[in-house]
Amino acid sequence: MRATSRLAPMKRHSMPAEPIGEFVPSPRLLLGPGPSLVHPRVLRAMAAPLLGHLDPEFLKLMTEVQLLLRRLFQTGNRFTIALSGTGSAGMEASLVNFVEPGDPVLVGINGVFGARMATIVERCGGKPIRVEAPWGRIVEPETIKEAIGRAGPVKVVALVHAETSTGVEQPLAEIGRFCREQGSLFLVDAVTSLGGLPLEVDRWNIDVCYSGTQKCLSCPPGLAPLTLSDRALAAIKARKTPCQSWYLDLSLVADYWAEAKRTYHHTAPISMLYGLREALRLIDEEGLEARFGRHRTNSEALMAGLGALGLAPFAEEGHRLPSLNAVTLPAHIDDAPVRTELLQRYGIEIGGGLGSLQGKIWRIGLMGESSQKSHVLTLLSALEEIFLRRRWLSRPGTALEAAARAYTGGGGFQT
Ligand SMILES: *Cc1c(COP(=O)(O)O)cnc(C)c1O
Repeated sequence: MRATSRLAPMKRHSMPAEPIGEFVPSPRLLLGPGPSLVHPRVLRAMAAPLLGHLDPEFLKLMTEVQLLLRRLFQTGNRFTIALSGTGSAGMEASLVNFVEPGDPVLVGINGVFGARMATIVERCGGKPIRVEAPWGRIVEPETIKEAIGRAGPVKVVALVHAETSTGVEQPLAEIGRFCREQGSLFLVDAVTSLGGLPLEVDRWNIDVCYSGTQKCLSCPPGLAPLTLSDRALAAIKARKTPCQSWYLDLSLVADYWAEAKRTYHHTAPISMLYGLREALRLIDEEGLEARFGRHRTNSEALMAGLGALGLAPFAEEGHRLPSLNAVTLPAHIDDAPVRTELLQRYGIEIGGGLGSLQGKIWRIGLMGESSQKSHVLTLLSALEEIFLRRRWLSRPGTALEAAARAYTGGGGFQT
């Protein structure tokens, strides 16, 4: 199947001579599916003067970024880097380096990002074996095992840990063990999980894992943390054909990140790496347990407040992400006008549904710096005002009270 070009011929622009003014963005509370809020320390780090990308001081910074990323991914993998490009570059690199023409690849699909992985597998000439689950539910480990039982061994099993389009957290450990027994590589999209919920690359037998900087790491978009096991590196070495992408060819990128080599491949996005180092330092200072606990607590309080407004959780119980809170809109609640009012009147961004879920759900991100009690309470009180004005709510304080109960452990709050 070949997509026909959708590019329309462009009109020529007139060229007005007035100068273009400085860009000053309005303050925004970013509670959507990413980007998340960025700590001032990260912004400050990014404003530092440039070093050359082969300057010994910069090479030291790269080594530190690698060390901090290994801690976060919970891995001893030598190959742990920050790839140039957003989370999608991480996804693309993770597939194009492993999938050769004819390779069978099992892809779990229960939302937008799993579907995107299957598309890339096809573009590599691989054979995607799609294991689908309804949006909002996990891909059952048993279904994956059965599919492999029917199809025979696959080179790669690819799953999305945190499906940002639905708010579902996919269980991974069991499939990791299964992949190891079968000799398949286990590939995991951790874009909306890394830094927001537990992810243990080594213990869960993950061979290829990528993320993005603008979700739970609270850095601007532009880098994709990526880690490869030795088995994954061996698979790259054993390729019969060169990787279809030159820019994302990890065997070439490896020579820039390998401490003994550091040879030029492409210029590293210097300022982005300054920012990532600082974001990772913030995470290290907070501690993973405390950070995951913060994400969980704020998510529980938000969901309690939204529930009191009549917005029910969309994702399957027991598999709800703390970083991306998806709720179903009752028929009387209009999606777009409320989100527009939130943005224009309150400066708050939340996300709508993607694809078939457009107009049906909201996606509220509490990722990294965005996951704060004060932000949860701000959003709930703005929603209360909007709902009161539209007569969807009769009693002010309903959502805030439910959130306060959640924060105080359910008791001791007097009405
Ligand atoms: C956001 C996201 C991506 C893509 O990342 P970009 O930074 O937008 O390129 C991939 N997978 C998941 C699960 C995501 O949430």
